[in-house]
Amino acid sequence: MISRDSYRQIDLYAPDRSPCATDLSDNTNLWGVPPHAARAVREAHASAVTRYPSLYAAELKGALAKAAGVSADMVVTGCGSDDVLDSAIRAFTEPGDRVAVPHPSFAMIPIFARMNGLEPVLVPLSNGTALDADAMLATAARVIYLCSPNNPTGNLLDAGEVARVVREAPGVVIVDEAYVDFADADALDLLDSSDRLLICRTMSKAYGLAGLRMGYALGAPALVAEVEKSRGPYKVNALAERAALAALREDGPWVREHVAEAVANRERLADELRAREIEPLPSAANFLLAPVPDAADMAALLRARGVAVRPFVDLPAIGDALRISVGPWEMMQAFLDAFDDASGEVACS
Ligand SMILES: *Cc1c(COP(=O)(O)O)cnc(C)c1O
Repeated sequence: MISRDSYRQIDLYAPDRSPCATDLSDNTNLWGVPPHAARAVREAHASAVTRYPSLYAAELKGALAKAAGVSADMVVTGCGSDDVLDSAIRAFTEPGDRVAVPHPSFAMIPIFARMNGLEPVLVPLSNGTALDADAMLATAARVIYLCSPNNPTGNLLDAGEVARVVREAPGVVIVDEAYVDFADADALDLLDSSDRLLICRTMSKAYGLAGLRMGYALGAPALVAEVEKSRGPYKVNALAERAALAALREDGPWVREHVAEAVANRERLADELRAREIEPLPSAANFLLAPVPDAADMAALLRARGVAVRPFVDLPAIGDALRISVGPWEMMQAFLDAFDDASGEVACS
């Protein structure tokens, strides 16, 4: 074999992404692109395509820093937050080290760990959703990953427990805040007291720029400098940098308006599910996790009816569940109609 031994355990990340009339499977912004970001892409000069982008996205870092209330040397950008997470995991470990990851959480982290010759250690969330700080710390992992609001469960992690992990961890703690725009809490205040905390964010969800791939992290200057080394130059492409700058400077009202609509539709969808005797988990994100008896089957029945959601099988303390992205109400209604129709078929079989 010419491949690396450790790569045999890695499967290509390949969820079912075949086209579907109503795609509620990836938590992107279902209202579309913020208008000023769209204009920045449309009106970009040809040099944005023919020339290399800026080495380290300095102008964009300035805008991100301003939005977060930190200094520009506390920001590192990347080709999606996936790139930042991958680079960070690599930057603070040696091959063979352990990376602690709650379970269930973001599916890419164990893959990034193996891609970098590391050992992912999955630590179950207690009662299916709560951070178990003791168990995370007991791994003594060089990197501890946390996600809040957590994907796929949707809940914010307890702030006191997160603070304790950050305080007592032997290495770097990553807090992934991909869904922070939909929540009413974040971990920013912990940056003042820790130079080993990295807060990862993305413009793929609330900001509607998933296709452009723009993510970033906030942390102490010495920490983000290491991530920058590990990631390398030119990773934010020129169109993404322009669109992200325009979005940060001018699309704030559009983003806030659609975040509010997502939160309202999320609660309305939760009510509709409860009326069908499905009890979704409390969510602080733009999706709901709804326990159902046979998630894989139900997802296939929904897909046959033109609606894509993400099934999860046998989650600890939760069992099978569907993760449903929240968007405009017509899409939620399309999901409910397909769900009712599919449930009727299950009941008859
Ligand atoms: C969607 C998602 C990301 C990935 O974001 P990109 O910036 O598009 O790479 C990261 N973390 C979590 C938890 C996500 O759900």
